[in-house]
Amino acid sequence: MPASAGNLDEIRQLTEKECRLTPQRGAILQALLEMEDRHPTAEEVYQVARRNWPSLGLATVYRALDMFAGLGVLYRLDAGDGRIRYEINDGPHQHLICLGCGRIFEIREPLELEGLLKSKYSDFEVTYSSIRFFGYCQDCRLKKQR
Ligand SMILES: [Zn+2]
Ligand SMILES: [Zn+2]
Repeated sequence: MPASAGNLDEIRQLTEKECRLTPQRGAILQALLEMEDRHPTAEEVYQVARRNWPSLGLATVYRALDMFAGLGVLYRLDAGDGRIRYEINDGPHQHLICLGCGRIFEIREPLELEGLLKSKYSDFEVTYSSIRFFGYCQDCRLKKQR
C-alpha cells in the first residue's frame, strides 16, 4: 500500500499493476482528483466523471470506488450524516466536521496521540487512521448567536 498517492500518474501506475485501468475508471479517478478537497459521495463523483465519460453508469462508479478503496488509493470517510464520502489517499490528516452545515474541513496537524500510539503499540502497524472532530464552524456559530 502506498503511504500517499497524491497525483494521477502514481495512482494510474498502482492501479495498472493491480487491475486494468479502463477509460471509465480513469474518468472516475480524474473526477476524484478534481474534487479532492470536497470529500464527494459516489453520486457526486458520478456527476463529475460523466462529463468526461457520458455513458458512465452509477453502478460502475460504485464498483470502481470499492476497488480503489481496496487498493488503498481511496479512503472512505463517514462524516456522520449517513453518506459515505471518498477521498484520495494523500497521507494522514484529520477532519473537522460541522454539525450545522455539514462542511468538512481538512487539517493536517501532527497529533500527539498518533506518536503515542506508535511508541506504545509498536507491534501494530498503523497504515491509516481517521480522526474526526465534530462541532460548529465559524459561520454556524455566528448564526447561532443572532
Ligand atoms: Zn457550519
Ligand atoms: Zn480528507
